[in-house]
Amino acid sequence: MSQEFDLVVIGGGPGGYVAAIRGAQLGLKTACVEKWTSDKEAPVLGGTCLNVGCIPSKALLDSTHKFHDAKHEFEEHGISTGEVSMDVAAMMARKNTIVNNLTMGVAGLFKANGVTLIHGTGQLQKDRVIKVTAADGSESQLKAGSVILAAGSVPINIPPAPLVEDIVVDNVGALSLSEVPKRLGIIGAGVIGLEMGTVWQRLGSDVVVLEAMDTFLGTTDKDLSKEAAKILKKQGMNIRLGALVTGTQVVNNEVKVAVKKADGDSETLTFDKLIVAVGRKPYTEGLLSADSGVVLDERGFVHVNLRCKTDAPGVYAIGDIVRGPMLAHKASEEGMMVADIIAGHKALINYDCIPWVIYTHPEMAWVGKTEQELKAEGVEIKVGKFPFAASGRAMAANDTQGFVKLIADAQTDRILGCHIIGGNASELIAQAVIAMEFGSSAEDLALTVFAHPSLSEAIHEAALAVDGHAIHMANRKKRK
Ligand code: FAD
Ligand code: NAD
Repeated sequence: MSQEFDLVVIGGGPGGYVAAIRGAQLGLKTACVEKWTSDKEAPVLGGTCLNVGCIPSKALLDSTHKFHDAKHEFEEHGISTGEVSMDVAAMMARKNTIVNNLTMGVAGLFKANGVTLIHGTGQLQKDRVIKVTAADGSESQLKAGSVILAAGSVPINIPPAPLVEDIVVDNVGALSLSEVPKRLGIIGAGVIGLEMGTVWQRLGSDVVVLEAMDTFLGTTDKDLSKEAAKILKKQGMNIRLGALVTGTQVVNNEVKVAVKKADGDSETLTFDKLIVAVGRKPYTEGLLSADSGVVLDERGFVHVNLRCKTDAPGVYAIGDIVRGPMLAHKASEEGMMVADIIAGHKALINYDCIPWVIYTHPEMAWVGKTEQELKAEGVEIKVGKFPFAASGRAMAANDTQGFVKLIADAQTDRILGCHIIGGNASELIAQAVIAMEFGSSAEDLALTVFAHPSLSEAIHEAALAVDGHAIHMANRKKRK
């Protein structure tokens, strides 16, 4: 006999669990099928983000940032500490506690909202029937009015660098190293490569990042990627562009990596650990029966329309498993949108206003289009830029690297993009997101009152600079 629900969500990551909670809040009888299992064989909610992604990586970034400050910054403030050391096991234990608290918190939210958690692997069959296989192999069936597929993504493996336990690792292994590797290699200068490279470099690893492309952070605004490359290099990160890994070999607890360089020469590098971070792919393995009616696109993502509807009636898909950026907040917003639609409400996401953050120090954050994209589209633009070196708050914090760059339409003054590299960029970017979401002009921001002293004033000044009228910077134009 099958259990019946208004809504069944497959996957309990930030896409799926948010969709399930929203569905239940809107009065739908909701179940969430999740296969993730703890050491104690209990179900674990939160998906990649809470367990092996956003949250544990930020916990390690925060711990190592504090360590770096204690070692290198405190003295200038007049603080003496004696010798500073890092207990890696304690750092990892703190990270694990945060992860446990958060995942248990989501389980608590399910209970509070009346979402039924079903532990097992879900497979969508025809006509919104879901087969669930439990860890012991037993099978059951659910019947749903609507289904949301939220199965997420998994790391891409490359044939020249197969994973080798504790030595050649993906993001899961990179978040759990038991000691600081002296020589750390990373394949891929993307988001994970830079964040995890930052963590281990702050603790003393010599980090070499091998990037196949000959451009650094190729899709970001050129001013931002140029500044980031300069700062990361100054911090000691060795980022090698045009470096193609052709093979790896683990011998005596170290890994030899064969690299073909941009100039065609080859070399072999030796590391104690190697992190493979070359991107992620949608996770559809076993998710769909042959007659489910759901179609995959040519890249393996579940095919959906703008409102995340698949080709099968009543079946939606959200998060990393569908097109668009692989970001937790994008997955969650899609989850809320789809639950709203299923409950009969109108909902739509503004995909032009999704912020990105890379949590190095300084952080990088952006929203909207880059200067290069807009110029290629033939849009006439005005650019306002303000350096944190001219910000009183940044000086007080000893954190003056980077800038805010605001791009507005030259005709309408509407804000089209904002690109920040600097301390707390992850928080600052929200102001540009809100402004863009509300269709603000640069002048709207320029006429807004910002607290002094604050890093946010750099956004105000960048908005003033769009028309050449920044106060704390030499101006290009005389005010009319
Ligand atoms: P997931 O979080 O992958 O969740 C999918 C869930 O579905 C999993 O729990 C899985 O067990 C379950 N599942 C899969 N198939 C089945 C099945 N057949 N039956 C039952 N259950 C199933 N994003 C950010 O926005 N900010 C960050 O700072 C950030 N940092 C990251 C750091 C790292 C190291 C990594 C790897 C990723 C990071 N991301 C970050 C990306 C973010 O984690 C993902 O975009 C997000 O988790 C996607 O959410 P999701 O719900 O689509 O999928
Ligand atoms: P990524 O797409 O960000 O970067 C992968 C990099 O690897 C690219 O620069 C690519 O050119 C390079 N690459 C690919 N194949 C290669 C090869 N064979 N040799 C050398 N370099 C190669 O992917 P990622 O860093 O694995 O992260 C995956 C996704 O997870 C991100 O795109 C992002 O969506 C998400 N994520 C987000 C955050 C965040 O929001 N702060 C943090 C971590 C991960």
